[in-house]
Amino acid sequence: MNDNFKSPDYFDVDKLFTEEQLLIRESVRDWVRENVSPIIEDAALEGVFPKHLVKSLGEIGGFGGFLPLKYGGSEIDFTSYGLIMQELERGDSSIRVLSAVQSLVMHTIFRFGSEEQKLKYLIPLAKGEFIGSFGLTEPSHGSDPSSMKTTFKEEKKFYMVNGSKMWIGHAPICDIALVWAKGDNDEIGCFIVDRNTEGFSSAKIDRKWSFRASETGELIFHNMKVQKENLLHKTNNMKDLLDRLNIGRYAVAWGSLGVAMHCYDIALKYANEREQFGKKIGSFQLIQKKLVDMLTEISKSQILTWRLGVLMDEKEATFEQISMAKKTNVDMACMVAKKARSILGGMGITGEYPIMRHIMNLETLITYQGTEEIHTLITGRKITGLSAFK
Ligand SMILES: Cc1cc2nc3c(=O)[nH]c(=O)nc-3n(C[C@H](O)[C@H](O)[C@H](O)COP(=O)(O)OP(=O)(O)OC[C@H]3O[C@@H](n4cnc5c(N)ncnc54)[C@H](O)[C@@H]3O)c2cc1C
Repeated sequence: MNDNFKSPDYFDVDKLFTEEQLLIRESVRDWVRENVSPIIEDAALEGVFPKHLVKSLGEIGGFGGFLPLKYGGSEIDFTSYGLIMQELERGDSSIRVLSAVQSLVMHTIFRFGSEEQKLKYLIPLAKGEFIGSFGLTEPSHGSDPSSMKTTFKEEKKFYMVNGSKMWIGHAPICDIALVWAKGDNDEIGCFIVDRNTEGFSSAKIDRKWSFRASETGELIFHNMKVQKENLLHKTNNMKDLLDRLNIGRYAVAWGSLGVAMHCYDIALKYANEREQFGKKIGSFQLIQKKLVDMLTEISKSQILTWRLGVLMDEKEATFEQISMAKKTNVDMACMVAKKARSILGGMGITGEYPIMRHIMNLETLITYQGTEEIHTLITGRKITGLSAFK
């Protein structure tokens, strides 16, 4: 695929970023251009995860960049992390998700783990020598994780874990999984589970129409014996768990912006080349209206997302602000991608252009990291003070 992506910037939002942030964005954009764009259409069509990119992504700081150097990070700020998510998802959701899940796993170990756990796991994860997965969702509990059925029981020498997790990114290929479970008194435990642990198995979910170049699957725990030293001992409650979702949702807010910018750029170029009725289609008012609507919504999201980055860097971003940004950017990207598809006419459904691939990936973005309904309820609860969840 010919990749001559140029990001739109109608309101000079680039001037709001620091030189270092722009440099990080450009280097990831180049990496995507060289490594992702040439292979991703085939990988998605064939349903193959491009595993060969894992170490290369680690080399450019694609995993847990916001962590201290000592633990394999590069001490970048959250705005830079967001720009990385934007560029990677512009390439494909499967690549952004690879980076985001790995970073989430690393941040969770960093936040709740012991020094020994950090030293043992963070650097191999940062280098892409280990692939991690984050196991929260269950077959019967998605939007309502507090009702999870996976349990743990403290035995003399280990924790016994039983249950299963569903829809887990990298489940079939992970070296370690973070597994959330409930104890006898409803306390929450998070365990680092090595793939070789007795009682652990995984299965792949095949025949997906979305996230086709990503390995998604199930984690199964049958009398799984987890060593005592693998409990993340600094967390035992639901609030910490929900706090983890912030990082994932923040990544989706930026990633969906990247998808929208890509679809707009393709549609604009196409409209300036394609002729019908003896004229460029970009000269028709109806096509211009679509392009204007797309750019207007992208511009609003760019400013909102930049502001969210600043709030994250100031440690001021709230759960509800992240939630609104995730939902509104995904909505925006869905609208932009659909209009882009229609501007390309029949060509819009082919693998010559990435638009249909992005549209299918967006279907997952609508649902995962909190569905659009759940984010609406989070905002509704914030502004009314009344919870409509139950
Ligand atoms: C490709 C992919 C990758 C994923 N990766 C991971 C991962 O790595 N780790 C992980 O833990 N999870 C992962 N997930 C799971 C994802 O987070 C869940 O799918 C999501 O939280 C929704 O849960 P569910 O699918 O069980 O839907 P449900 O919770 O069953 O929801 C079904 C419908 O009911 C609606 N609904 C539910 N409750 C309410 C309510 N109170 N009011 C109104 N409507 C409501 C929902 O909005 C939705 O429309 C992934 C999912 C996908 C598709």
